[in-house]
Amino acid sequence: MKPIQKSAKLDNVCYEIRGPVMRRAKQMEEEGQRIIKLNIGNLAAFGLEAPDEVRQDVIRNLGNAAAYSDSQGLFAARKAIMHYTQEKRIAGVQIDDIYLGNGASELIVMAMQGLLNNGDEVLVPAPDYPLWTAAVSLAGGVPRHYICDEGADWTPDLDDLRSKITDRTKAMVIINPNNPTGALYPDAVLHAMIEIARQHDLIIYADEIYDKVLYDGNTHTSIASLADDVLFVTFNGLSKNYRACGYRAGWMIVSGEKRHAKDYIDGLNILAAMRLCPNVPAQYAIQTALGGYQSINDLVAPTGRLSRQRDLAYDMLTAIPGISCVKPKAALYMFPRLDPKIYPIQDDQQFMLALLEEEKVLLVQGTGFNWPRPDHFRLVFLPNTDDLQDSMHRIARFCEGYRRR
Ligand code: PLP
Repeated sequence: MKPIQKSAKLDNVCYEIRGPVMRRAKQMEEEGQRIIKLNIGNLAAFGLEAPDEVRQDVIRNLGNAAAYSDSQGLFAARKAIMHYTQEKRIAGVQIDDIYLGNGASELIVMAMQGLLNNGDEVLVPAPDYPLWTAAVSLAGGVPRHYICDEGADWTPDLDDLRSKITDRTKAMVIINPNNPTGALYPDAVLHAMIEIARQHDLIIYADEIYDKVLYDGNTHTSIASLADDVLFVTFNGLSKNYRACGYRAGWMIVSGEKRHAKDYIDGLNILAAMRLCPNVPAQYAIQTALGGYQSINDLVAPTGRLSRQRDLAYDMLTAIPGISCVKPKAALYMFPRLDPKIYPIQDDQQFMLALLEEEKVLLVQGTGFNWPRPDHFRLVFLPNTDDLQDSMHRIARFCEGYRRR
């Protein structure tokens, strides 16, 4: 029999957050070993439960949720999202500008499928949340990575961004607050990015799924609130702000210069209709989540669990010789640097595998986020303080062993 091969469409597609290192960790767990997981932003798995009223809404409405909904999603949920856009000062959003999806993930893939012809280019940050790079590639596009500058709190290097624009560039992706760096962009940076988009006729895709996970009293500006003469597509959902990753409830909002985008919007409507509708039970939770008590604020307050865990992980990690890190302002992650003079790593996936085998700590290598050099990794600070402390001791011990080699 001939070997059955995957489609060539997947040739440049990878998603290493759930790649070989995670597969090895799963195997080790099946063998009975305990692994401390600092690899995935899955809040409820760490006891950070979705708000009870949100869960109750899904349960209460389960009986009404067996039929397909409108392809773009339930009216009440979209209406609540429309109100949220008003709170975020995104102008002119109508119900039909809002698409619900099985998480933001489905919509990110859909947005790229609907836009790109083979060889079209999209500006994607490096490091990025790798679904973006994968979604561009899967749609036949070419991701062109612009560097975010660690020395400038991981904000985009605008000169590098400009230098990556060609006559095939169609769009720019902005992940703010950022996964994997925890960066939060100042308004001046957002204005500068809009200006570049304006000059080169680019769509701005804004992934704002962590817009309420903000530390130290920081506030978030939706980039789509800053202009109306550029086309914006903004992504958000219940996964992070409401700790309901498994509900698969996300949304996408089209705003700004929509008049010239009728054909693209038509494409989005076709794709939304083809998948019939997003999962319905979770849609019932959206109105309650957005309108209810915002318990995420308790977690990110200075004494809240997420803030305390961030501080602990940051302090312990940066005490390890040769590790430095920009302290996250938002989201659930940090992206520390391993000084190459002290840790001359050739293959960062091997480094993470060795850490896993020796110390039972699971992290993701920086190159998994399309970072060009093997000198970073991403850490998720979701485990409780005991586990975090334990894992930091283990990482420190592993690094010490590496330095002594
Ligand atoms: N965008 C970013 C930046 C993320 O970090 C994630 C998940 O980790 C997603 C999108 C996907 O979110 P969802 O669960 O809504 O598919």
